Amino acid sequence: MPFDYDLFVIGGGSGGVRAGRVAAETGARVGLAEEYRMGGTCVIRGCVPKKLMVFASGYSTAAEDAREYGWNIDLGDFDWPRFRARLHGELDRLEGIYRTNLARAGAEIFDQRAVLKDAHTVELADGRRFTASHILIATGGQPYMPEVPGGELAWSSNDVFLMDELPRRALIVGGGYIACEFACILNGLGVETSQYYRGAQVLRGFDDEARGHVAELIQNRGIELHVGTDVERMERREDGIWVKATDGREATFDAVVYATGRKPNTAGLGLREAGVKLGRWGQIIVDDYSQTSVPSIYAVGDVTDRINLTPVAIREGAAFVETVFNGNPTKVDHSLVASAVFTQPEYASIGMTEEQARDERPIEIYSAAFRPMQSSFIDRKERVLFKLIVCAESRKILGCHIISPGAAEMIQMVAVAIKMGATKEDFDQTVAVHPTMAEEIVLMKTPVRTA
Ligand code: NDP
Repeated sequence: MPFDYDLFVIGGGSGGVRAGRVAAETGARVGLAEEYRMGGTCVIRGCVPKKLMVFASGYSTAAEDAREYGWNIDLGDFDWPRFRARLHGELDRLEGIYRTNLARAGAEIFDQRAVLKDAHTVELADGRRFTASHILIATGGQPYMPEVPGGELAWSSNDVFLMDELPRRALIVGGGYIACEFACILNGLGVETSQYYRGAQVLRGFDDEARGHVAELIQNRGIELHVGTDVERMERREDGIWVKATDGREATFDAVVYATGRKPNTAGLGLREAGVKLGRWGQIIVDDYSQTSVPSIYAVGDVTDRINLTPVAIREGAAFVETVFNGNPTKVDHSLVASAVFTQPEYASIGMTEEQARDERPIEIYSAAFRPMQSSFIDRKERVLFKLIVCAESRKILGCHIISPGAAEMIQMVAVAIKMGATKEDFDQTVAVHPTMAEEIVLMKTPVRTA
């Protein structure tokens, strides 16, 4: 019996929409089900609203700086409801674009939950069943909230975008991307912000020198960062949420935000029953072509817990279509993927950390931390950091770490050179653009250490 669809996609986020649209453009009959809003985490409750909040929160410091530069400015308070209305208007607009592009390509959209029934069948929440030659699972992830007494009082990052009013005092729990970003955002918006992280230093897995630098910046901006500290319990009290920490500290907040990681969104999807192998965290196990243990079922994006970034999910979605619908088996290259933590200033990096590289081979470290012209002029103490990790034998740049305003924009450019295999000498031969902060990347002549 012929299938109803050539491809049925479960999940309308970055990976699922890209795969659905590109597959439909090849002439394939495509159905896509999304239970919440089209666009997924990135557009609706992740990268996009987060970045807009980063922009909003940056103006408080910008205004302080402007005053130092001679402007007579009185910034006043941040009007969260006004910003929120505009933010949600923008998200609606983007969701509309996703929807239109998908429909224009010829895909059929179902605004409801779908689950697997077998290797070729999905069932919608309204009971309709469809068969498909291939099924793509692109259901993403969701916040992981550890169990703590009183934990139901805490928000996840999803809730921050929806809050009615700005809290006066907020606690962020965690030390990863989301925790550091939201601590900076709330602090910039004028919220008294504390951050508790259970480990010894924030941003585990990143370069140690850069982690120390970010922690210093976070604290200098006025965030009360407590490492080696976790929440023991919480209680709703008259004046807010009372929090007892593992180090004995007690404090009261108007909002507690858990940013303690994300878990693949695979529960209740009928995956195991259909024979799809899952890993320890519930992630879907896939091969290099994003194929699961069931040959007709593929999975892309955060649900596979490979590199949980939007552009990676998009690449995986496109490679899946190339493999299955264009007869051109395509692996996604997961090496040398740059990313940025949108703290203020930003921390952007690509490649290895110093710690990873020195365990593998002899290396040279070039690193410069300094006050850039724009802030040194007004006696702002914040320093930027530029760091290169170089293989002592091949001379190739193994890693680059930048902490500075605009670091995410810079790393995108550096990433091209590093992906092409640039050596330290290639960087040295490149003439500086003056006066910039970024020129430091081609001006560091002497290693600060070797290992
Ligand atoms: P991360 O995995 O980066 O960080 C999770 C943090 O929570 C860690 O500090 C971790 O501590 C802590 N934690 C985990 N479990 C517990 C627990 N039970 N109790 C207390 N603390 C705990 O996750 P995020 O949620 O920040 O981000 C998820 C992913 O989303 C990122 O890995 C990234 O791939 C992506 N992302 C990317 C962004 C970007 O590109 N700018 C922005 C936001 C997210 P420990 O280190 O000790 O394990």
